[in-house]
Amino acid sequence: MKTQLSTVSPRVATLLERSLEGHELSVPDAVLLCQVKGRDFHALVQAADALREAQVGDHVSYVVNRNLNFTNVCVKACKFCAFSRTNRSEQGYFLPREEIVERVKEARSLGATEVCLQAGLAPGLDGRFYIELCRTVKEAVPDIHVHAFSPEEVKYGCERSGMTVRTYLTELKAVGLGSLPGTSAEVLDDPVRKRLAGGRITTQEWIEVITTAHELGIPTTSTLMYGHVETDEERVRHIDLLRTLQRRSGGFTEFVPLSFVHQESPMYKKGMLPGCRPGPTGHEVVRLFAISRLMLGASIPNLQASWVKEGLRQAQLLLSAGANDLGGTLINESISTSAGAAHGQRVSPAELRRLIREAGRIPVERSTLYAQRQAFDADPGSDPPHPLDQVSDDDPRFGSYAALTTDPRFRFEPVEREAMKPRSLPVH
Ligand code: SF4
Repeated sequence: MKTQLSTVSPRVATLLERSLEGHELSVPDAVLLCQVKGRDFHALVQAADALREAQVGDHVSYVVNRNLNFTNVCVKACKFCAFSRTNRSEQGYFLPREEIVERVKEARSLGATEVCLQAGLAPGLDGRFYIELCRTVKEAVPDIHVHAFSPEEVKYGCERSGMTVRTYLTELKAVGLGSLPGTSAEVLDDPVRKRLAGGRITTQEWIEVITTAHELGIPTTSTLMYGHVETDEERVRHIDLLRTLQRRSGGFTEFVPLSFVHQESPMYKKGMLPGCRPGPTGHEVVRLFAISRLMLGASIPNLQASWVKEGLRQAQLLLSAGANDLGGTLINESISTSAGAAHGQRVSPAELRRLIREAGRIPVERSTLYAQRQAFDADPGSDPPHPLDQVSDDDPRFGSYAALTTDPRFRFEPVEREAMKPRSLPVH
């Protein structure tokens, strides 16, 4: 590394050397690295890759999971969100609990170890809905990990039920919730959040849900949505806040930088947010990953490249810029797809393994909480077949977001009263 650093600017070389020696990268220094170009850029990427190798080795993990965005009807109108619909929309859907359970069972039969349940905030929802949904899913499929409910949904459940965050999360854990997604974070800076979505959960409320979850032994992920109106400093302060929270609790399992998908986003497409950028550039994405490795690697060692946001090719390249995880197979993806992402709604384990090996690394199927399930360190020909590898891209079982919004069985109005009742379903 010394030889390569001799060709980069002295300030950047010093910062990278200090990071490689284990010193903490400060906010001002990380902001400086947000603008590096040319040889400095390459040196930053090399440093992040070296740190990744030292911190987590050559394994690259993925999880076999299924996303279930069970309703797109939402009382909020976040300007970045192309997924949500009002309760008067012809395209509003709400999956009945029987349907959700069937989809979880189907996922399990295809080898999924996790279901990720996240959705809009449907008006009139019973306050205990999330608790009862989790209970129903776990009763039906006890060995599935339920990774569910963003801090915004937890807060909505609290508001609708009158329960405190602590009580609500305690009940969720008691019925089998495995972990929370650290979504609805966007950029943890209130002025930025107000511009993106007036009624959004505040930074302090997000922190309250996350830290309470950690205190109760519920792990969470952490995310950043970037490439819209935020500054370099706001991005870096967000990462610094996650670093501080992690030092206190150790409850974050991973960090997932999420590129803003602009194509169908109202704040870009309809010009609702002047100055909104069309997502980060390729170099911005690479720099952000490398800086994330430098800032967070010692406290949150797992850095995920989202193929949904970046595409498989860019996600694969990010494995050389500090990333060590490619996320999940998803099976159904609605939120990024509705925003205009064109990378599909599922990927097979075999394809993930192919990309990981081609990047010179070792594929590992992991659990949601990063326990190793299987390392594929032998010849690809000896990989055991996975049920999801046999599923074709256009398998009608899995439908699409567009199909969901037009399926008369799932229209919001006809099903809302029944589906939103807080009872448990007989599922056996
Ligand atoms: S981001 Fe979530 S809370 Fe905001 S409008 Fe979309 S579904 Fe609703």
